[in-house]
Amino acid sequence: MIPFLDLKKINSQYQEELKEACARVIDSGWYILGSEVKAFEKEFAKYCDSNHCLGVANGLDALILIFRAYIEMGVMKKGDEVIVPSNTYIASILAISENGLVPVLVEPNQYTYNLDHALIEEKLTEKTKAILTVHLYGQVNDMDEINAIAKKHNLKVIEDCAQAHGALYKGRKVGSLGDAAGFSFYPGKNLGALGDAGAVTTSDIELVNTISALRNYGSHEKYKNIYKGINSRLDEMQAAMLRVKLKHLDPEISLRRDVAFAYKNGIKNPLLILPNINDMQSHVWHLFVIRSSERKRLAAYMLENDIESLVHYPIPPHQQDAYKEWNKTVWPVSELLHQEVLSIPLSPVMLKKEVIRVIEVLNNFQ
Ligand SMILES: *Cc1c(COP(=O)(O)O)cnc(C)c1O
Repeated sequence: MIPFLDLKKINSQYQEELKEACARVIDSGWYILGSEVKAFEKEFAKYCDSNHCLGVANGLDALILIFRAYIEMGVMKKGDEVIVPSNTYIASILAISENGLVPVLVEPNQYTYNLDHALIEEKLTEKTKAILTVHLYGQVNDMDEINAIAKKHNLKVIEDCAQAHGALYKGRKVGSLGDAAGFSFYPGKNLGALGDAGAVTTSDIELVNTISALRNYGSHEKYKNIYKGINSRLDEMQAAMLRVKLKHLDPEISLRRDVAFAYKNGIKNPLLILPNINDMQSHVWHLFVIRSSERKRLAAYMLENDIESLVHYPIPPHQQDAYKEWNKTVWPVSELLHQEVLSIPLSPVMLKKEVIRVIEVLNNFQ
């Protein structure tokens, strides 16, 4: 069987380093907000070409805390609107509604699967305060166009980088392309912890100060609370794991690109639509997503040939029970994508012969 993603194989490559880091944390006697978190924050900010990084409990919290901080700072208030792609993973949208803000869906471009910037302006009202752009599947958005719209209408730009650690736009890393960014280090992400973890990057010092209090009960100083904060901290153990994994991220991205390149060149079946990319640097291939009008049959055929595949994602946000208020609305591009997309195996530990086998099987699909 060619697995979709073999996490054990990925992490066991770094077994010794991970165990050493783990022992270091155990021996330190300090487990929350200590030297490992501080060091990781510094290293990850530098990696992202950003001035600051704050570790938090997970990717959803990273996004929630950015909006919460903007509310505390008086930049936004409950009822304000935030532009977000209609085909994103639900967490992007939850981060908006969790804060009493209103998500305003905008359709993606049907070839890049990222926000169609040409459709943003018609959705703006006097309540619009931000654009939450998602680098979906690992590909950077058209940031010049998005930032130009934001500048013209005085909007914040927040990047959801959960799938795109290390992707470049005109030589700059994601996480530094807007006003603030949220990252997830969920184990299956390109930079994955060994449990839940997340981070915010930004160069806005007021935002840094606000979030660093909000993630810690609303407190900078023990027992003195300036906000009604939450507990959302990155712990020392996960920070130590991430420091090890971060060192290997660029070589892993390069291996992901090799697989993607082989797929792009090798899969030549007119029944399948392959992903479109601007340039190799702009995509870090968290997922290699193909499209077929007969997805169900394709997935079953792949499984018969011992190849796993997954769907990202099967149900569009506007058709979820959680967002009943949208259930009667129609988002044709998003709906089409949700019917057709299929993610095929791609990882830094895939063998050449497995890649060749996937290509062969897909080319024989009829
Ligand atoms: C994974 C993911 C998140 C949420 O991250 P968690 O760490 O699982 O909370 C948010 N947005 C996108 C696009 C994601 O893929």
